[in-house]
Amino acid sequence: ESYLSRLRALEPHLKSFLYVSDTVLSDAREIDDKIYRNEELGPLAGVLVGVKDNICTAGMPSTGGSRILDGYRPPFDATAVKRIKELGGIVVGKTNLDEFGMGSSTEGSSFQVTANPWDLSRVPGGSSGGSASAVSARQCVVSLGSDTGGSVRQPASFCGVVGLKPTYGRVSRFGLMAYASSLDVIGCLSTTVADAGILLHAISGHDTLDATSSKREVPDFTSQFSAVDSLESKPLKGLRIGLIRETLDDGVDGQVNSAIRAAASHLEELGCSINEVSLPSFSLGLPAYYILASSESSSNLARYDGVRYGNQAVADELIGLYENSRAAGFGSEVKMRILMGTYALSAGYYDAYYKRAQQVRTIIQKSFRAALDENDILISPAAPSAAYKIGEKVDDPLAMYAGDIMTVNVNLAGLPALVLPCGFVQDGSSNLPVGLQMIGAAFDEGKLLKVGHIFE
Ligand code: GLN
Repeated sequence: ESYLSRLRALEPHLKSFLYVSDTVLSDAREIDDKIYRNEELGPLAGVLVGVKDNICTAGMPSTGGSRILDGYRPPFDATAVKRIKELGGIVVGKTNLDEFGMGSSTEGSSFQVTANPWDLSRVPGGSSGGSASAVSARQCVVSLGSDTGGSVRQPASFCGVVGLKPTYGRVSRFGLMAYASSLDVIGCLSTTVADAGILLHAISGHDTLDATSSKREVPDFTSQFSAVDSLESKPLKGLRIGLIRETLDDGVDGQVNSAIRAAASHLEELGCSINEVSLPSFSLGLPAYYILASSESSSNLARYDGVRYGNQAVADELIGLYENSRAAGFGSEVKMRILMGTYALSAGYYDAYYKRAQQVRTIIQKSFRAALDENDILISPAAPSAAYKIGEKVDDPLAMYAGDIMTVNVNLAGLPALVLPCGFVQDGSSNLPVGLQMIGAAFDEGKLLKVGHIFE
């Protein structure tokens, strides 16, 4: 009840949610009954979870932030949601996002603009902006987001919460509306690293409904957490940290740069060795990502044809029905991505764009693998700046895309990364959080969580 009243009181200012469940209290009562009956409780019993609205929830609206799915209520739960419910978690509602995950500020939602709880005139980041602002403002305990190119990590950074992007394949994508299938992962937002570990454990593991989900064993991510009594004990002794040189270049806000360097010093105090590493292909990630993500999305979004899902426009013949439904249903950013992707995949341009971007992707994967042979963890800022003003970048898509420079490479390489608050940027009267990104080797989320837990 206290979470719900807080959620409702803040919602007019934040607009984190597109839908709030009307069964939260009855769901909670069921858990209460279990307690009376002395039944075993799952590790998420009674935990209120916000779910990004591109993740399907049975019987609740699931719009992906798009008008084309306005009113759509899937008859099934995404596997991640199903597992959360099985372990006692309660879905409190559906959080706002950039349409189908395409954006970095949540201003690209077809329905509403979400505000950053630290400064209501600023964006919460995106595309999982609603999930991040809801956790940041304690409208729910934890939330699910999705991360194709940074959509869990950058909003976590902007809203001062923990964001975890798992290894590609760690979490089933069944029930996640596909944006770019080779990059998409469901991730976790929370206020502590331990909570992110508990939530990740709940949603991870093989799923026969997603052929790309991994059969790897899922470790108990938080079992190796240890209490740290003092800095003198050097709890992270022997850990090799690589600070990615290219991420502290000119384009990065000076105060963000200082916060990351201070975080590196703190890791050093904890016993880590810090080495500057160079990833020369780093800046190629952005153009490669936008070509690949747009290409995959142009194919994935073909399913919204006004016949199989969502809203249907009026027309007197079939092609017209497709055209009118898509023209009315999709927003301008989505249309632009579909056009860019279709262009990059078309005969005559395929070799110059799509194929070349795939080659760049391989180079990036190799350079990360080499850097992670020499280092246990790589660190960088989660974004080149703190949260910016609502409206500041809406008319400049390239400026918006450039803000993804810190995160997209990690998706191209399929690696796990943890973002956690590490300082503040002072801008006028606003104190804005800065996130540190820790990148690990594939399926090494356990190490990221352990180090993150000691760091925080
Ligand atoms: N901002 C990036 C994009 O617009 C990443 C989005 C995401 O991770 N879903 O594609």
